[in-house]
Amino acid sequence: MIIDSIQAAIGDTPMLRFTHQHFAEIPEGSALYAKLEYLNPGGSIKDRLGMYLVKEGIAQGKISTGTTIIEPTAGNTGIGVALAALAAGLPTIFVVPEKFSLEKQALMRALGAKLVHTPTSEGISGAIAKAKQLHEEMADSYLPLQFENPANPEAYYHTLGPELVEDLGDEITSFVAGIGSGGTFSGVARYLLGRNPEVRLIGVEPEGSILNGGASHGHEIEGIGVEFIPAFLEGIPVSDFSTISDAEGFAMTRKLAKEHGALIGSSSGAAMVAALAEIAKLPAGSQVVTIFPDAGDRYLSKEIYSRTDY
Ligand code: PMP
Repeated sequence: MIIDSIQAAIGDTPMLRFTHQHFAEIPEGSALYAKLEYLNPGGSIKDRLGMYLVKEGIAQGKISTGTTIIEPTAGNTGIGVALAALAAGLPTIFVVPEKFSLEKQALMRALGAKLVHTPTSEGISGAIAKAKQLHEEMADSYLPLQFENPANPEAYYHTLGPELVEDLGDEITSFVAGIGSGGTFSGVARYLLGRNPEVRLIGVEPEGSILNGGASHGHEIEGIGVEFIPAFLEGIPVSDFSTISDAEGFAMTRKLAKEHGALIGSSSGAAMVAALAEIAKLPAGSQVVTIFPDAGDRYLSKEIYSRTDY
């Protein structure tokens, strides 16, 4: 396969099939599919979003030559937007809570971005507030704001949803995915509902996220979990929210590396725990799809594969 830009390698990722042979929880005759989004060139599902946000910004006349793109991000969106901005020749500034993954911060810088830090204790809300302030202060700047921008779910509605149906047809029993901004979950959910209104939709969050009504507190699983209910979830008939502990998520992340060779991040491990719980309660012959959003090597400094506390 010959391509003329690294951005052309975004999307069309493989789906890894797991069966009863791999996990005893999967009934014989059922299959669990994981979409390997960590194999995108920027290492995450957010490469799709980056391309879409920049394309939409240009189409709407909000981005012209020399416009600086400013975005609050835990890192993966920053990497995706930086890749897209490089292709369009645009500068980028990302606002990142200080102690979030250092590897992601290094990767954003490697792609030419400037970083601004906010206190980790203020979470992503602190980064959003700071990014809004920077945007107001800088005349020729654009703030795509993934948490509110309809281009976020649309990116997945138009790319990831169709890819799932291309591989599996309309026989998807359940879609199980982590929720950060909610863009992936709601965009794919809307696409699948359009094909099959019976599809079950399971949102995944870490303990410390509020979707199941629990109290908001810190968690180690990175990339998913919310401090407020994402606007994108409005109108989505969610079947269930699955709340996964850090211990369960990290144990599964390590198992997927050690036993299956999948070098994925902790949000993928959490999604797999939830997907296995879902398929275990469905009749034989069911097809469950989940997403592995990013790669594990961006969490090596957090000892993702070597920690022993859980
Ligand atoms: N996993 C990881 C590692 C992520 O970075 C993100 C995005 N923050 C997600 C899952 C969740 O994606 P979304 O923002 O589309 O809900």
